[in-house]
This record gives sequence, structure tokens and C-alpha cells, in this order.
Amino acid sequence: MDEWKKDKPYYDYSVEELEKFPIVKFEIAKDAFDGPFSCCHTKTQKVRKKKILNHITFEYEVWRCPKCKTDYLDSKQARIYEKFYFINKAIEEEIKFKRNLNYDGHNYFVRFPNEVTHNWHKKMTVSIIPVASNEFFVKIE
Ligand SMILES: [Zn+2]
Repeated sequence: MDEWKKDKPYYDYSVEELEKFPIVKFEIAKDAFDGPFSCCHTKTQKVRKKKILNHITFEYEVWRCPKCKTDYLDSKQARIYEKFYFINKAIEEEIKFKRNLNYDGHNYFVRFPNEVTHNWHKKMTVSIIPVASNEFFVKIE
């Protein structure tokens, strides 16, 4: 093989064949990691999946190849899956700050340790996501 054949897609070349071509510069489109992807010469399809770890049910979407059943995550799906992975890791390894629950006569509140509040400011807001009656995820933004 001496030259690139325009009608032959890159994935039909072997690595050894591709190495014979000169180095080519290219830009990756901003949406290059957005689905649907191509696999087995066909488009992947969005599929919902469910995973239960540490009593937490996590529902997420993947792009699945209808032929070989390989699942792919786009960049947004990967970020969501990564958060789920870290939350589970924190639960399994018991990574936590144990604090007393305070009560001012009207509301319960929790003080965050100084180690994690260096870049916080008064205009930030808190999102509290309930998982169970005594379990919550807290996001400061
Ligand atoms: Zn496939």
C-alpha cells in the first residue's frame, strides 16, 4: 500500500499500514466526543443502564453498538459516570468529615471544616440532593 485511498475509511487500515503515512496535523472538533458514535460501520444508539452500588441506584445513559453491544460514553455521560464512581469510592473507603449536627431552635445546620472552605464566599449557594431520609449529597457552587 503506497497511497491513501479516499474511499477506504481509516479504520480499515492496519496500524502498520497507517504508520507508513506521513504525519498529518488535524484539529479535533469540539463535538467529536458527543454521541452517537460509529462502531461496526453503524451508528450507536442511546441506551439507559442501571447500576446499584452501596445501596445507591445510579441510572445513566450510554451509546451502544447494535451489532457488537459495546458501550461508549460521550464526554457528558463520562463526567456523570465519573462523579458516581467517586461518590462510591468515598462511601467504600469512608472518606468523610464527621461533624456534629447543630440546632439553633428552628433549623439544623452543619459546619464545614476550614480545610475545605478556603475558596468559598458568602454568595455561593448550596444544593442538597436527598438520597435517603438520612443521606444527602451536598454541592456548593
Ligand atoms: Zn460495534
